[in-house]
Amino acid sequence: MEALFREALLALPQAPLRDLLRVGACSLCAMRFLSVRGRVYSQSVPASPAILAEIGNGDGLESDRSSASCCTVCQGILQSAGVGLAVLEAIQKEGHEFCDFSLEVTVPSATLVRERSLWCYLRKEHPEDFKAEDPNECIVSLKEAVKWTFGPQIEAALVKNSFLGMGKVMDKNSNFHISLVFKHANSSSEIQFLSDLSGGDSKRKRGPVEAGESIAAVQRSLASISSDAFARHYPCPPPQLDTPCELVSSCRKDAIFVVGRYLKYSRSISQSPWTIQEDRIGDGSVQASACEIIGDVIFPHFKADSYKFHAAGREDIDVRMLGSGRPFLLEILNARTCSKQEELLKLEHAINSNKDGWVKVKGLKEAGNEVWTIMRQGEADKQKEYTAVVWLSRPVTEADFTTLSNSKELEIQQKTPVRVLHRRSPLVRPRIIHWMRCEALHDSSCYFLLHLCTQAGTYVKEFVHGDLGRTYPNVGSLLDCDAEILCLDVTNVKMDFL
Ligand SMILES: [Zn+2]
Repeated sequence: MEALFREALLALPQAPLRDLLRVGACSLCAMRFLSVRGRVYSQSVPASPAILAEIGNGDGLESDRSSASCCTVCQGILQSAGVGLAVLEAIQKEGHEFCDFSLEVTVPSATLVRERSLWCYLRKEHPEDFKAEDPNECIVSLKEAVKWTFGPQIEAALVKNSFLGMGKVMDKNSNFHISLVFKHANSSSEIQFLSDLSGGDSKRKRGPVEAGESIAAVQRSLASISSDAFARHYPCPPPQLDTPCELVSSCRKDAIFVVGRYLKYSRSISQSPWTIQEDRIGDGSVQASACEIIGDVIFPHFKADSYKFHAAGREDIDVRMLGSGRPFLLEILNARTCSKQEELLKLEHAINSNKDGWVKVKGLKEAGNEVWTIMRQGEADKQKEYTAVVWLSRPVTEADFTTLSNSKELEIQQKTPVRVLHRRSPLVRPRIIHWMRCEALHDSSCYFLLHLCTQAGTYVKEFVHGDLGRTYPNVGSLLDCDAEILCLDVTNVKMDFL
């Protein structure tokens, strides 16, 4: 027996300890019930008969189940062998890279019922040592004990197989999660009586309670039953078990985010694929969207399950995105590999070397969860700068340029544009045109370049042509003629985070 374990055992009240072992609790469950915590759980544990031989077998009990192989409380979970190996296999199958991990544990609801049963028994037999009505106030939870018992084993297996460096430990804040799900075939039938008992409670469904069904629901049920009522419906101490729980181990990584800005030099590439109810419009001849041109390079690098593209606003397909580019983020789900900044630079170079050259990116970097808040904030606050080619129904004059450039912080009223009425509700939205600047076009009397800066959400095309008077004032009304927009570029999306 390891010294630490022996020391911990001998420090415990011997009569309840002896009783716990004799009714079939494993030695670690016995420790849980006697509020032992910490490192001692990871020691190699002697079988109950060996412990009883050490502390004295006592007498006064009709039966001794201490030699039964499967713990009657944790359903054999804390006695599991090969947990490190099972985790290793799951990780090798998935091919994850990671530098630390968190451990998530799921146990069958029946273990809660069995804990309660043993608690009822102990309160009767050892009222001085077990006073509380609710075992959760005193005992160490099974999930916590699983982490103490198997965490060090998993760590050792991962270090030995070079998944982790020495000194790396479990970290509950890690973005890589190893999950241990323990299942027992009989779990749902064992907790059935709870659902029968609370049949009058409209919040609970009648019928079988699923194994693993909200452990919180079982906890609530147990909390609502007195110990006496419980003991009338379930044997105390808990009955023996023939088969232990089965373990299913899996792993996953939290979403990671790659942020950057994109530029779009084409008037026939959309920001994202055109779809109607999930069906992609067009066939293979349709050009890839900016989202796909970027995602198709970055996504394979991470060996992930999938990705989502999010941009700070959007431009129409026929509008180029120039200048500073538009901030975007790629949400990469369950990435297998970790990325380094120099690899992101290579990916940036790969996108920018695409032979078509219609879409480019800059400033690729990995970001944390906080990027969502920044994107949303930026969406609401951002100002955007545009350049438009404008046509007037009469020759352009210097006075027109002066009129427009003198209009600072111009408030306009925009009714929902005709072209988007099918998807946006009909409203009047006040918007601000912060400034305008005009540039003459060589050899063309009726055309000029209009540079302007607007509040987020302004429909710029409609501000130029007026949208049948639905946007007012507009360039035409300001200059007292008709105005049309020939083409439009976004030249700057002001946002601080990139
Ligand atoms: Zn146990």
